[in-house]
Parts: sequence; structure tokens; C-alpha cells
Amino acid sequence: MCGIYGCCQRAKAAKSAIGGLEKLEYRGYDSAGIAFLEGEKIEIIKSVGKVSNLKEKVGERVSNLAIAHTRWATHGKATTLNCHPHTSKNFIIVHNGIIENFKELKSAASEDFYSETDSEVIAKVLEKNFENLTEIKDVNERILNSISKTQNQLVGSWAVILICRKNPSKIYAFKNKSPLIVAKGKGENFVASDINAFEKREKNLLKYYNLNNGNIAEISRENVYFYDEKLNKIGIKEIKKQCEIYQENCNFKHKMLKEINEIPEAIYSTKKYIKKSDFKKLSKKLKNYSKITIVGCGTAYHAGLYGKFILEKYLNKNVSVELASEFRYKTQIKEANELVLAISQSGETADTLAAIEIAKKNGAETAAITNVCSSSITRICDYVLLTHAGAEVAVAATKSYVCQILALYMLASSAAEKRIFRSLENVAHKAILNFSLENLKEFLGIKKFFFIGRLCDSATASEGALKLKEIAYVHSEGYPAGELKHGTLSLVDENSLVIAIITQSEILDKTLNAVHEVRARGAKVLIVSQFDLEGEGKEVLLPRAREEIMPLISVLPLQLFAYHYSDKNGLNPDMPRNLAKSVTVE
Ligand code: GLU
Repeated sequence: MCGIYGCCQRAKAAKSAIGGLEKLEYRGYDSAGIAFLEGEKIEIIKSVGKVSNLKEKVGERVSNLAIAHTRWATHGKATTLNCHPHTSKNFIIVHNGIIENFKELKSAASEDFYSETDSEVIAKVLEKNFENLTEIKDVNERILNSISKTQNQLVGSWAVILICRKNPSKIYAFKNKSPLIVAKGKGENFVASDINAFEKREKNLLKYYNLNNGNIAEISRENVYFYDEKLNKIGIKEIKKQCEIYQENCNFKHKMLKEINEIPEAIYSTKKYIKKSDFKKLSKKLKNYSKITIVGCGTAYHAGLYGKFILEKYLNKNVSVELASEFRYKTQIKEANELVLAISQSGETADTLAAIEIAKKNGAETAAITNVCSSSITRICDYVLLTHAGAEVAVAATKSYVCQILALYMLASSAAEKRIFRSLENVAHKAILNFSLENLKEFLGIKKFFFIGRLCDSATASEGALKLKEIAYVHSEGYPAGELKHGTLSLVDENSLVIAIITQSEILDKTLNAVHEVRARGAKVLIVSQFDLEGEGKEVLLPRAREEIMPLISVLPLQLFAYHYSDKNGLNPDMPRNLAKSVTVE
């Protein structure tokens, strides 16, 4: 989940690597480290906390080659000792992922270990293999063979970039499951875990290549060579970078707020571009599947809950939604003609990728709704729908969620041959403009939240609760409104705020029953609805859209509320503790 970055570039490699880490910081940010070649010497600098701490420590350095890392700890605390790069006698590595058999490998290694990480073992295993390959005289060949051997010994997920002291004019990279992209330039070459990490260049000056599992890249200033696991030289197909460029400078205090404000534009873009992908092919086939299963994690799972609502409503067909992390381990029941539809903003969510692999093995057709073209999920699914929401960097998903909802709505509408509600971007714009924190100030100190709703509103309730948990660190629960009385109602008291989302007229009265029940227990109530329910409690009045797509609108004040709650309480909503944007580990 961390970011890794490597580059071979005249004089500016260390600077470039720090710049790359800054762009990758959203993926993980408990510590950062760098190794770079300065003259003949390899310097290693590590720092706990933000990349800015590392940047300060590194200062201005002249270097032709560097590798760097921002960490999201999986094994061992965020300490300087556990910070990457990790080393052995000759190898300096940065690693993204988890080495599942690290204990076993550790006991077989010949050198002592200094960190608690699983990653250090990669450097040690490389070393041992390098020692054992003395018969290979060419040092480059010997390094490549050591890597190949090491890859065969590792179990788990990894994207690794390394420097070998015996050949410090090159960096090497290899991967399994975790993403790794090479950018080839003129007299400069790069590798990183995310295409957005690379420096900007004039049009087409950089060519991008997505490494496959088992591939190895040998990178110098002049050249990049790719190898398969048997060390045959191979060519890799160039990929295109998504056209939109992330706007760094904006007038918003945080990226999350900026991304919420970009939602109307993102809706427009999804509507316009989603049909360019496999949209038509998939929507035509949708009715014919005997079973549709949607898989996702976190926010994407909540979008899946909406997907179930809209597909069942429009197609009159049973749809199930599963958490990808559960789906991957459950009993797989083979069904002819099944579709497994995966939702993942980044297209790199490890659990979702694993779920897709399993579904494929089980004979299902697979489809992806994702925001990142050329991501891993786009390469393994039969159908790909790109949401085109634009880069989303704040950890909490906002515009990507809205566009996932829209993609599902458009897919269901197209399959059912229904016209979509056209002016969604205008309604979303209105909902954002109408949001007034002033009216909600009294709720900014509350520590106990319950979000309730029925049908598709319960998906919104879960998402609203998740936003608050993620960035404001307060306890919040999202519940189908009818469920409260089956247990959770015991927690509701005068210190609680119950946020009721009511956008579906057919169950309006039913959700209001739940509102009355919580009010009778002393809870404060906030209603989020397009219906004027004055007298039922404080209300955030939403602009109207067709009811089936109201979840796209009703989530907006919830995202904004979570944002302001976090900000007013002195937190950084863009980088919540313990979380990372793209969850590439299990
Ligand atoms: N598992 C490694 C560690 O805990 C790498 C984590 C990451 O991907 O940042 O250091």
C-alpha cells in the first residue's frame, strides 16, 4: 500500500525521488526513506512521519540514481529501524506488499536481521542467492539470476526496487501482485507503484509500461530492459496515461474538499466517457446472466449495495453483494452463466483482485468498474467500465463513489432500456452549494452517530457512517432503519445523533417510524431528504432528482459533514491515521 519510486536521471535523482514520494504519499504515510548514489557512495536516509520530514533531512543532493519508499506498516511499528530501504551486504531494497513466508525465509538466511519487517528478508535472500551464484561472472547477469531465484522463493505480494552495490549504475525492479510501472524517457528512466508519481514531461516524452507478475526490469539512465521469470528478454506493451492531470494548486483547504467540489464535473465526465469502454457490450448481456454478484471493499462495497438495489429494480433479477475479502475465501458454488462485477476505485485493491481471480477460476465472466485505466483490474476482467471521475487523492473516497453509483445506474438503465435522469450534475452542484455548516454546527462535538435509511438509503447510511469513521475518528454506525430495534437501539441515548436518509417515497413513513423511536429515546435527529419533513427534526433539504438516483445526491451532505467535522476538530481529512488510499495488501 506504500509507494515506491526509483529513477536514473542526471544529477537530479534524489530530488525526483522525493517529488515522486510526495505524489505517492496518499498511499501510505507513516514513514519514508531513500537510498541514492552520491558520487561513488550510496547514502541511505530514513525518517518517521511525513515525506516532508524526509525531504528536510535529505536537502539538496546531486545524484544520478535513487530508490525511495513511503511506508504503510504491515509488519512492525512505524520506526526508523523498520523504515525502508532495507539492506543486506550488497542489496538495498524498497518493497511494497507482504512477504507471507518471511519467518521461514528468515530462519534460513545467513545474515542478522535488524528490523521487524517482512521486507528485510528480501534483501537477505537476494544476498544469499548472489553469494551462491559465483559461477556467473557477469555481474548484471548474476544480479538478474539472483532476482529470478529470489522471486521463486517468495510467497505473497511484492513490488520491489533495488540497488546492488556491485553494479550501482542500475536499478532493478520486480513484482508479484503489487503494481509497478516503468516510465521510459530520453536519458532518464523511472519506475514507481503509480503512474501519477512520475514527473511531468512534454507530450509523449515518457512511455509507460505496466509490469506483469514475475517480470523484471533492468533500468539505467540510457536503457530499460524487461525480462520474464526465466530471464528471457521480452517486450511489454506500452500503456497510455489517463489524459487528465491532477490539479495541485487549488483554492481549497484540503484535497478532499476539492474532490467533493469536483463532483458535478466528474458526473459529467462519467456520463460522457463511460460508454467508450465495454459499457454497451456488458449492458446488452446483463439480462442474460443467471446470477450477478457484485464484489468490493469499503466504499466500493457500499456502491455495490446500491448496485443491487438498482439492478434488481430495473432488471427484476436477484443480485448479491459480497465483501471481496470474504468472497475470496467462501465456498464457491459454480453456476453457469454468472457475472461477477467488481468495484474498485484504484483497480489495485488486493482483496478485490483476488476475488476476481477466484471468480474466473470458477468459470464466471467478470467485469470491473474502476477509475484507473491500465490498473491491474482492467487487465484481468472481461469487461471494463471506466468511471473517468478524475484522479482522487484524498484517502476518503468521495467523487469516485458518486461515479460508481452513476456507472451502476447507467448500466442498469441501459440494460433495462430506460432513459437516465439527465441533469444530475446540476442537481449535485445545487446540493453542494446548498450545504450549510452553520445549520449543523451544534452536531460537531457529538461522539456517537447512527446513520439510518431503508433500501438504497441504507447503502448511503453505511457510506455516511464510514466517512465519519475514516476521517473524524468518531464512532458511527450505518444501519438499515428497520434493524435498529433488533439490538442497536440499546446504544441510542440523548448523546447520540441519528441521521436519517429518506429519499424513497414508498418507505418514507417506515423510516419515519424509526426516527420517532430514536427520538423517544432522547436522541437528536437530522433528516436528509428531498421531501419537506418539517416538524420531524432538523433537516438537510436536498434538491430533487429521480428517486432511483437520489443516493448520488444524498451522500453529498454526508461527505461534506464528515469533512467539516474532521477539519473543525483539527484533523487532516486528507490523510487519516492508519489508512491508505489504495489497499494493495490483504
Ligand atoms: N510489509 C512491508 C512493511 O511493513 C511493506 C509495507 C508497505 O507496503 O508499505 O514494511
